[in-house]
Amino acid sequence: MTARLIDGKALAQQVRARIAEDVARLRAEHGVQPGLVAVIVGEDPASKVYVGMKHRASEAAGLHSRQVVLPEATSQEDLEDVVRALNDDEAIDGILVQLPLPDHLDARRVQELIAPAKDVDALNPYTAGRLAIGDPTFLSCTPYGVLELLEHAGVEVAGSEVVIVGRSNLVGRPLSVMLTLKGRDATVTLAHSRTRDLAEVCRRADVLVAAVGVRRLVTADMVKPGATVIDVGTNRDDDGSLVGDVDFDAVAEVAGAITPVPGGVGPMTVTMLLQNTLEAARSRRGLPRR
Ligand code: NAP
Repeated sequence: MTARLIDGKALAQQVRARIAEDVARLRAEHGVQPGLVAVIVGEDPASKVYVGMKHRASEAAGLHSRQVVLPEATSQEDLEDVVRALNDDEAIDGILVQLPLPDHLDARRVQELIAPAKDVDALNPYTAGRLAIGDPTFLSCTPYGVLELLEHAGVEVAGSEVVIVGRSNLVGRPLSVMLTLKGRDATVTLAHSRTRDLAEVCRRADVLVAAVGVRRLVTADMVKPGATVIDVGTNRDDDGSLVGDVDFDAVAEVAGAITPVPGGVGPMTVTMLLQNTLEAARSRRGLPRR
């Protein structure tokens, strides 16, 4: 392997340690313990794992962490009542509703209900709109983690060609907006399943981000020598192991720097949720966010 490894696990540990210090200081100086609540509906095993991870990470950082577990058959009305009550709960600074919700529930309507001041998952259309006009409140956690990884790795995005493959509201689209904000100043191409000649588009990238959900979609011939490659994908291989969207072994011989899966973007996603909760707790009390 010739590429430099961008170690998301190590960076996540560093950032979480700094968040824990900030939380301790907030408690000591202002008597405030930031509170995060995860709402989970039904029995989806992956959702339970994710919520468990977020819970443990929150507690380790000194946050007040709560889980609201609702039965699969919960009605839209009851779920909305739960979110309204959490909006009014003074002990709670951040609300996340774990996706996917059971099919009979309208996730978009639930996300719209989350108070913008507590929207630490950044999926409320208000939050997305604030980002789109260049005045963000919260940054959604996975793209926020990608920004931190790039900064930590010393990758200069200003003036660079960034290609993002995948245009979801969760990852690709908000990341494209974040990178084109004044101050970050990247030139971004947002590619998707209808992009003509994806390989040729990807080869233009100084920074290539894959957020697709197709294992090993990005092959070595799609990467410009020396480019930075960020792999957001989390897919199961035939043997059950976790693999990304990038053909890691081959691409690592061409790229200048690369994130692994696991141990790249994933740990940073949870970390930025903690960061957003800390920022929410501070800004709700009129304190500077960072
Ligand atoms: P998504 O909502 O399914 O979006 C996938 C995107 O990829 C869509 O824009 C789709 O294009 C595009 N796409 C699909 N096949 C393609 C192809 N062959 N060529 C080019 N583009 C293609 O997925 P997501 O929620 O953004 O997640 C993407 C991946 O990231 C998944 O593996 C997910 O598990 C992972 N993820 C990881 C984290 C983390 O913390 N590590 C967090 C979130 C997501 P169209 O729009 O044209 O359909």
